[in-house]
Amino acid sequence: MQTTSLPETAASDALFERAKKVTPGGVNSPVRAFKAVGGTPRFIERAHGAYLIDVDGHAMIDYIGSWGPMILGHNHEAVREAISNALTNGTSYGAPSEGEVRLAELVTKLTGAEKVRFVNSGTEATMSALRLARGFTGRDFIVKFRGNYHGHADGLLVEAGSGLMTNADGLGRSAPSSAGVPHAYASLTLVADYNDPEGLRRLVAERGHEIAAIIFEPVVGNAGVLIPTPEFRAALHDAKRSGLLLIADEVMTGFRLSLKGACGVLGIEPDLMCWGKIIGGGLPVGAYGGRADVMDFVSPQGPVYQAGTLSGNPLAMAAGLAVLSELERDPGIYGRLDEYTSKLAEGLASAASEAGVPLAVNRVGSMLTGFFQAGPVTRYDEAARSDTAAFATWFREMLVRGVYWAPSQFESIFVSAAHGERELDSTLHAAVSAFATLGG
Ligand code: PLP
Repeated sequence: MQTTSLPETAASDALFERAKKVTPGGVNSPVRAFKAVGGTPRFIERAHGAYLIDVDGHAMIDYIGSWGPMILGHNHEAVREAISNALTNGTSYGAPSEGEVRLAELVTKLTGAEKVRFVNSGTEATMSALRLARGFTGRDFIVKFRGNYHGHADGLLVEAGSGLMTNADGLGRSAPSSAGVPHAYASLTLVADYNDPEGLRRLVAERGHEIAAIIFEPVVGNAGVLIPTPEFRAALHDAKRSGLLLIADEVMTGFRLSLKGACGVLGIEPDLMCWGKIIGGGLPVGAYGGRADVMDFVSPQGPVYQAGTLSGNPLAMAAGLAVLSELERDPGIYGRLDEYTSKLAEGLASAASEAGVPLAVNRVGSMLTGFFQAGPVTRYDEAARSDTAAFATWFREMLVRGVYWAPSQFESIFVSAAHGERELDSTLHAAVSAFATLGG
């Protein structure tokens, strides 16, 4: 196979060597280390619009968008201004401020949640929502789906997706998916298959009375993109009859697929929702919310404890407000994102087919995964059959050509409002040559 050599990365290489001496694996989140695709991770100096610029001066079309938050593109003027203005008033108070009320008002208005609580990450949001569900129902068990990822809280690192699908131990491990998670803890997490309505119905029929909540990605991004079938959505809804709570993890899909998230697009009615990423406009924010009778169980109103030194941070609230206000002001953004990503999907499929490379493209709105296999891919076990070696080669070939794709087969890419015709043409041009190196 003829592949192209990587361009000069001396500055990134040097930083990575320094980083490895002082940080495990040289990174602060595993997928960033490029372990699944090889090569040195690029260290980023700055970002603007649709581009990341690394410390060696390479400008790359960015399809990660900080793993989702940057829906408006990097360094967006309105967001930058909002953060600068907030900064003049100090950085953290440890006491309530108006920004928290305004963002909560906007989130409840847009999503239909009756009450929300802000935290500092998606992980905190899902962890807190599950504690709340357990406190509300008085039950201990939860259900999650194989290949869904809900952050790194102990009870959720059970057959999880995202970086856990490509870590050194490979696919399909049984619970727990990480060392350090007590088996006793993992045993409270029941695992079912996504898009297997019969399996879910059986589980709920047998154990529904013990289950506090089902947590799920309403469109999966963390096994690559998987779309829930109508039958599966119906089984989720029917499960509520056993008194459990449905928790939609909209950390990735919230405000990305629509102002009402994936649930809004697909007509799913959860009891609780979790958010992260876009809700913080690129600053560390998460949130959970939903039915008022459930949310009123959260302290100080109710008995379920949850707190945070930096929760509701004024800079983070300002950034989140700026992004959500922009999306609300210009809802046409979603149509434009859809158009770009659908052209990207078509272009990738035709470039792959031209080169004789099997590729199954799954896409919803501005989320997309090209699985290196013939497909179709609707379930986790099908996603896991992808040719990860071919993907890794393709990833490196794209990077050489200035396109920064997600460095794992089992991730979604994210398009931003700053991606335009120029970026689409360059991406597809790069893709044609990258697929050609595989096909040849
Ligand atoms: N839930 C989903 C669906 C996610 O995709 C992620 C992160 O990618 C999380 C939760 C965890 O969010 P965070 O990384 O902010 O803790």
